[in-house]
Amino acid sequence: MTATHVAARVPGAPAPESEALFARARRTVPGGVNSPVRAFRAVGGTPRFMDRGEGPYLHDVDGREYVDLICSWGPMILGHAHPAVRDAVVAAVGQGTSFGTPTLNEVLLAEEIVDRVAPVEQVRLVSSGTEATMSAIRLARGFTGRTKVVKFAGCYHGHVDALLASAGSGVATFALPDTPGVTGAQAGDTIVLPYNDLEAVRRAFEAEPGAIACVITEASPGNMGVVPPAPGFTAGLRALCRQHGALLISDEVMTGFRLSRAGWYGREGVPADLFTFGKVMGGGFPAAAFGGRADVMAHLAPEGPVYQAGTLSGNPVATAAGLATLRLCTDEVYDHLERAATVLTGAIAEALDRVGVAHQVQRSGNMFSVFFAGAPVTDFASAKASEAFRYTAFFHSMLDQGVYLPPSALESWFLSAAHDDRALDRVIAALPAAAEAAASAAAG
Ligand code: PLP
Repeated sequence: MTATHVAARVPGAPAPESEALFARARRTVPGGVNSPVRAFRAVGGTPRFMDRGEGPYLHDVDGREYVDLICSWGPMILGHAHPAVRDAVVAAVGQGTSFGTPTLNEVLLAEEIVDRVAPVEQVRLVSSGTEATMSAIRLARGFTGRTKVVKFAGCYHGHVDALLASAGSGVATFALPDTPGVTGAQAGDTIVLPYNDLEAVRRAFEAEPGAIACVITEASPGNMGVVPPAPGFTAGLRALCRQHGALLISDEVMTGFRLSRAGWYGREGVPADLFTFGKVMGGGFPAAAFGGRADVMAHLAPEGPVYQAGTLSGNPVATAAGLATLRLCTDEVYDHLERAATVLTGAIAEALDRVGVAHQVQRSGNMFSVFFAGAPVTDFASAKASEAFRYTAFFHSMLDQGVYLPPSALESWFLSAAHDDRALDRVIAALPAAAEAAASAAAG
């Protein structure tokens, strides 16, 4: 898609400064963005360059204000520029920004995580969710002495080579079933199964006796849009992994510390052997983690033989932001997020009902997304079969009215503790026109 083609599809409000910056960015940055989904390819138009965030609002370089329903793809659970997080970061920066030695905050952050998620006895801090899942898989292979990994179509676990097969939103958006650059050898030990299909997992274990090191699953998927696990699915995975001597890895990078104090685990209560975390625990900075059973974690260097390391792992500024954020993620915050999600999902369903367009508002706690589909979406195949062209029209109408949604139908929407009645009312007021736009959209 050329720049002119993208610009030609911009409906509604002009964004001259963003357009100029995007054109400039494309000269030096591939596609003009540093993470593909930011490029608006799935919905067309020019990505908005933001220069300021405050509470539930983002401000773009053209001087427009948006109610932000992405929240940096999850991390900003307290809203933008929260004073306590900002103060913690400023204080940390004043002490020096990286030492390459152990620091107190790393221990405090590890303790906070262990305290919140009961099956996690030890954690190792890293800098991104991708690093967390990559390291957890290496550890699972090292611990079990096996090679194969089971993942589910539509689940995204970061851009780990072995896991970039049927990997949900970003990859799906670009219709790249497997990305060039990942060799057959790297992906060859990955078994991709349909989500919510326990029978397929059972058959895979029978077909590969003693070969499967781990099953990795998004705790409650958000990367193909929100598709919660069917009742009993996670518990079934737990039982099958135990039966066949494999580890269960619950990827809570998106859900961790967002869906409850203990993430999705706090809601469903199925203990994995290893968990991965990111997003919220970094408070808007690059901090992530993997952790779980102490006997498994003991296999990590320097105690054990499985190597894993990072120059900026447990960075003092990132851990200060993460700690300040988690300490403010109280039961009141989770109650607020739950109530706000109830208000918004109810209003969205009502607006779409009124115009008579087939839709599913799917929800997992305070995460939710809208599929234009006639039946509930339960896996990647049904997610991809939804009418994404209607979402495109819905998205642009909301954007024009100052509401910033994920620029892809296959993504979760995110709220923050700062989304008060004023912000929610602005979203609700924009819904009737967006619903009309979705209903009257034509495929093609
Ligand atoms: N796992 C899940 C479930 C995610 O949603 C993501 C990112 O969206 C990742 C892993 C990768 O995290 P990061 O983008 O920090 O590498």
